[in-house]
Amino acid sequence: MTFISKTQHADVVLIGGGIMSATLGAFLKQLEPDWTISLFEKLDEPGLESSGPWNNAGTGHAALCELNYSPAAKDGSVDPAKALLINEQFQLSRQFWSHLVTNGMIGSPKGFINTVPHMSFVIGDANAKFLRNRYEALKPNPLFRSMEYSEDHAQIDKWAPLIV
Ligand SMILES: Cc1cc2nc3c(=O)[nH]c(=O)nc-3n(C[C@H](O)[C@H](O)[C@H](O)COP(=O)(O)OP(=O)(O)OC[C@H]3O[C@@H](n4cnc5c(N)ncnc54)[C@H](O)[C@@H]3O)c2cc1C
Repeated sequence: MTFISKTQHADVVLIGGGIMSATLGAFLKQLEPDWTISLFEKLDEPGLESSGPWNNAGTGHAALCELNYSPAAKDGSVDPAKALLINEQFQLSRQFWSHLVTNGMIGSPKGFINTVPHMSFVIGDANAKFLRNRYEALKPNPLFRSMEYSEDHAQIDKWAPLIV
């Protein structure tokens, strides 16, 4: 641990060297380049806790397959609002990372972000009905327009042969 003098000045003090401090610090540096920012991390290096890639599933939450962002109401209907909000937030994150890459503040995107297909697989009539309702609620939005739905075993076999 490094000790800071009681008289040392900082405009912003960030406690912890995880993704949240890194992101907030990067935002502030863009908005207020003259501010001094001090960051304190109790471990030997930043990014060793939850933000460490081996401690984290590493998926960018875009509500593509996180079904918890669109729970069914009592009547079975699905409100897409939260899933849309989460996806919009993910698009904003992508815009911010793109800005950082374009301005040379972080390296090649291939080093930290990769697109992979997402899939939600459910079993049973009730769950299939929920997934169909979710699909119908989200599909009209441009952010979800490439989403596909199927109950056809041959099609599911093509998408997920090991599961079938
Ligand atoms: C198993 C798992 C899977 C996850 N999967 C996903 C996922 O797929 N997608 C997703 O978006 N999110 C996922 N998350 C959540 C995501 O990892 C966290 O929300 C995110 O990393 C939190 O970042 P943070 O900077 O707040 O915390 P951290 O990365 O934990 O950073 C906090 C830092 O503060 C330091 N610290 C703590 N106390 C002090 C102190 N008093 N003084 C100095 N330093 C201190 C710690 O050492 C640590 O380095 C997952 C989390 C876990 C645990």
